[in-house]
Amino acid sequence: MINKFSLSKLVVGCFCLISSAATIASDVNKRPNILVILTDDMGYADVGFNGSPDIRTPSLDQLASEGVVLTSAYNAHPFCGPSRAGIMTGRYPHKFGSQFNLPTSNRSGGLGVPTSEVFISKVLQDAGYRTGAIGKWHLGEEEEFHPNNRGFDEFYGFLNGGHDYFPKKYKPQYERQRKQGLNHSIFHYLRPFERNGKEEEETEYVTDGLSREAVSFIKKSASDEDQPFFLYLAYNAPHSPMQAKEEDMAQFPEIKDNKRKVYAGMVYAVDRGVNKIVKALKDTGQYDNTLIVFFSDNGGKPNLGANNHPLRGRKGSVLEGGYRTPMFFHWPEQVPDGQTFTHPISTLDLYPTFAKVADAKIPHNKKLDGKNIMEDLIAGTSPRQGEMIYALRHRKGYSEAAARRDNWKIVNTGKKWQLFDVANDSSESKDVSSKHPLIVREMVAEMELWSWTNPQPLWFHIHEEGVQWREKGMPRFHETFSLKNNSTN
Ligand code: CA
Repeated sequence: MINKFSLSKLVVGCFCLISSAATIASDVNKRPNILVILTDDMGYADVGFNGSPDIRTPSLDQLASEGVVLTSAYNAHPFCGPSRAGIMTGRYPHKFGSQFNLPTSNRSGGLGVPTSEVFISKVLQDAGYRTGAIGKWHLGEEEEFHPNNRGFDEFYGFLNGGHDYFPKKYKPQYERQRKQGLNHSIFHYLRPFERNGKEEEETEYVTDGLSREAVSFIKKSASDEDQPFFLYLAYNAPHSPMQAKEEDMAQFPEIKDNKRKVYAGMVYAVDRGVNKIVKALKDTGQYDNTLIVFFSDNGGKPNLGANNHPLRGRKGSVLEGGYRTPMFFHWPEQVPDGQTFTHPISTLDLYPTFAKVADAKIPHNKKLDGKNIMEDLIAGTSPRQGEMIYALRHRKGYSEAAARRDNWKIVNTGKKWQLFDVANDSSESKDVSSKHPLIVREMVAEMELWSWTNPQPLWFHIHEEGVQWREKGMPRFHETFSLKNNSTN
C-alpha cells in the first residue's frame, strides 16, 4: 500500500534520480572527487552513526547524517587481504586465487593480486583522475603489485597487512633488529613507511600521519580545478596492535574496560582525522563535489575491544558480524540527505559505481561481480533484487559459506545449512530453514554453481594452511554444499 508519505518520498526519489543522472552524464568537467575512507577490523557498532553506545565519532556522524547510511553493506570476505582485493577489482577474490591473506614470509613471498585484474584506481587514472593511496596496502609488495603500478599516482604508507602505531616505540625495536642483521626476519609491523617506493620515516602517531597525508593530498589536488581526484585512504586503525594515544582514551572516562577504552581511542583518532579532512575539502572548495564513502574492510574482534552488536559472529566469520560493515555515502545534493538504505549491497559494487560517476571507461574484457548502485541508492530501491551476495571462508578441512538474497540469508558454518530472515533478524537468532526448505535448496544450489569456477588459491597465509589444504583435498565443496545434514527437518 502506498500512503501519502511513501508517495511523496517516491516522487522525491524519482526527481533526484533524474536530476542526478543528468548531472553525472552531461557535465564531464564536474566529475566528482572520490574519497574512500576505509577502516580496518571495525565492528558494526563501533561508530556513533551505526549505534555505538559508548564510542563517539562526531565527524563521521555528521557526514553520515548528511548522507545515506547503508545498513546492509557486505564485504567480499570476512578478513583483510581478500576483502581489499574485492574492493580494488570489483570481483570476488575467490575468482582469481586470492582467497587467503598473502603469505607472512618476507615481502609476501613475492606474491600479489594478479596483474591481469585491472584495479579501479587504474580505471580512474586512465580517465584522468589524480589518484592516491594512503595507509595499508596488503595486495602485494613486489614492484609489479606496488600501488604505483596499479593505478595510483601517489602512495604513502606500508605495503603489508599491519603496522605499529607509535614511531618512538617501534623505531628503536626496528633499528635494534636491523643492527643484529635480522633484516629479512624483522616483523613487518615495525618497518619504515614508504612514499612511492622510497623509505620514509613517519614521526607521528600513525593514524595522525595518515590523516596528515590525506589532507596534504586533498590540498594539492585543489590546485588543478579540472582534474578530479580519487583518494583511497586505508587507515590501519582499529586493527591490532591495540595502541591508542592517552588524550584519545581520555575522551572516554566512562569506559571502564581497558580494552574497549584503547579501542575507542583508536577509533576516535580516525574521527579526529576525518574532521581535518572535511575541513581541507571545505577550505579548498572541493567539499560539494566530493563523493565520500566510509566503511570497514571486515568485522571487529570483540576480544580486542570491538563491538559487532546486534550482529552475531566476528572478523573471519561468514555470520553477519564477520563481513557486514558500517557504511555511508556522502555527496552533497547528489545522494539523499539523512536517509537510511536497508537493501543489501556489496563493496564489489563500488568499482562500477565509481567508474560510472567518474564517467570512466572499464576495459571491455574486465569481469565484474558488482554493479553500479548509484541510481538505486538515490531512489531508495534495491539494486540487487533476487541476486545473491556471497561469503566463503576456507577453514581447516572445511569451508564456511553464506549468501544473502533479498531478505534471506543461508549460512553454513560447517554443520548444516541454516536460513535467516536477516532483514528482520539481523542477529541470525531464528533459523527458519525447516519452514522454507525450498528456499534453502535453491540458494544452496545457486551458490554451489557459483563455486564451480573458483580456482585453487594462489597462496596461503601460513605454510601449514597450504599443507592442510592439500592433505584434506580442499575445497571439498561436495561437503560444503551438501544438504544431507538438513534432511532430518
Ligand atoms: Ca581487516
